[in-house]
Amino acid sequence: MSRAGHRSLWQFRGLALHFGGLVLVISLLSSGVLTWVSVRSIEDFVEARIDRRFPETLTNVRERVDLWYRQHEIDVQTFARRDLLVEAAGQAGSRAETERYLGYVLERFPQYAALVVLDGDGERWLGVGDTSLLPESASRLLAAEGATSVSAPVEVAGHSVQIVSAPIEGRASSTLQGVLRLDALESVLRADHAEGAPARALLDASGQLVAGTSDLVGIPIPTDKPGEPLLLDRQDGERFVASAMPFGRFDWTLAVHEPYDAAYAPVNQAVTEALGINLLVVLTAGLLAYAVGAWRARPILALAEGAERLAEGETGVVVPVSRMADEMQVLARAFNHMIGRLAENRLELETRNLELQAANEVLEQLSITDGLTKLHNHRYFQDQFLREARRAKRAEVPLSLVLIDIDDFKKLNDELGHAAGDVVLKETAAVMTVVLRETDMLARYGGEEFALLAPDTKLEGAMVLAEKIRATVAAAEFPVSRPDGTPVSITVSLGVAPFDGDTRSTFEAADRALYEAKQSGKDCVRSGGEAPA
Ligand code: GH3
Ligand code: MG
Ligand code: MG
Repeated sequence: MSRAGHRSLWQFRGLALHFGGLVLVISLLSSGVLTWVSVRSIEDFVEARIDRRFPETLTNVRERVDLWYRQHEIDVQTFARRDLLVEAAGQAGSRAETERYLGYVLERFPQYAALVVLDGDGERWLGVGDTSLLPESASRLLAAEGATSVSAPVEVAGHSVQIVSAPIEGRASSTLQGVLRLDALESVLRADHAEGAPARALLDASGQLVAGTSDLVGIPIPTDKPGEPLLLDRQDGERFVASAMPFGRFDWTLAVHEPYDAAYAPVNQAVTEALGINLLVVLTAGLLAYAVGAWRARPILALAEGAERLAEGETGVVVPVSRMADEMQVLARAFNHMIGRLAENRLELETRNLELQAANEVLEQLSITDGLTKLHNHRYFQDQFLREARRAKRAEVPLSLVLIDIDDFKKLNDELGHAAGDVVLKETAAVMTVVLRETDMLARYGGEEFALLAPDTKLEGAMVLAEKIRATVAAAEFPVSRPDGTPVSITVSLGVAPFDGDTRSTFEAADRALYEAKQSGKDCVRSGGEAPA
């Protein structure tokens, strides 16, 4: 693997991704459960608040509106009890006085559009203010009741009005009636209505809006469970939380309602916030785990890189050992120890290899060397002869073969013993070697016979060389003495043949020449054969 390959090891992020992914999933699960639980409890809280607030509002508003009506009943009752009015009503003559009194009252209580006194027959005796707003039939009906009461709203000249009627004390058949504009009810309904609180509405028996605001006109709100919040869907799909209870007067219903989204806004907000925070936590935890994973994977990658370098044959590889006493530290130490041992083993192997090589060289030498004379042996001669023959043929250069045989060696053995013969053999080899050129190859062919290959040498040159050998051996003194003390000397016979293109016939020619030399009295050189033209 190349150096770039090493670097690519560091691109692996599997461990970090596993860490990061696992933590991401776990924190996602736990935060999901946590979000669900907290949202559920906020939902419960919001629901409990709605369950409490809606009936509470209804009861409060109902009491306030009812009090408002009762206040007006008391008002009119009080106006009717005033001595002046009682007296005036009794005496037709003080009509102007009564009118002035009622005018004064009207000034002080502007919520009344008009104040009217009805006589015993239910006929209007006098009136102040905008008396045209008094609905005649309703007025008579109330007067006939003879008790303090409030009429249901009546439409008069485009105004919605109510009559508050009270009998005039002492004159049971006369009544004082105040015309009350319904607009005033709006402010009573809206009093203490906080911004964003559920809307309040007074609805009549047919579900029509009397006062307040309603987004649910035409949608009946059940009152069988007074005050209980219900979910209602408007036709356009908008959902509302609403609750209602009977008002107690005029068959009216009091209702509060709020869009579902507004009522449950705290839940939605909690969900959004919780999701946001959780996402942040999950991502942070995941990234942190990823970073830790990447950090923890570094020693592993360092080990892998070390192993790669080792595999490439790099020496002296050492992986960094983390300062933290953990499994990775143990692994890195073991790895470095292993590398050390491998280096030792390699060194030992190299030493052994060198020794083996040397031993092999010795063996090789031994296999081609004659043990006694240290010349090349017969086998080596055969190989060399074939090789030199090929070369001579290819390069068209001459090659000569000389066969050498010690004369009367048997006799020497017989006279002086084999050991002395061996010494003579060894010395003869040494003596002959001295006259040879570097390229000449002398071998012990067998017994007391030698063969000499002279490359790049023609017959004439080989004859000169052979003669030189003959003369040198003949002149040599050997470190062996005869019984009479005279030093041993020997002679050799030599047969020379030029390479004729075939090793076998060349050898036969040289052998024949040697035989001829023996026949010619030994201690001489003869040639045979012919070099190719
Ligand atoms: P010629 O002049 O005709 O060659 O006579 P020769 O006696 O040399 O020839 P022959 O072939 O009859 O005898 C060769 C002798 O060489 C026989 C043998 O004992 C001796 N010889 C061969 N090898 C060795 C050896 O390794 N050591 C010793 N000491 N003698 C050897
Ligand atoms: Mg011989
Ligand atoms: Mg011989």
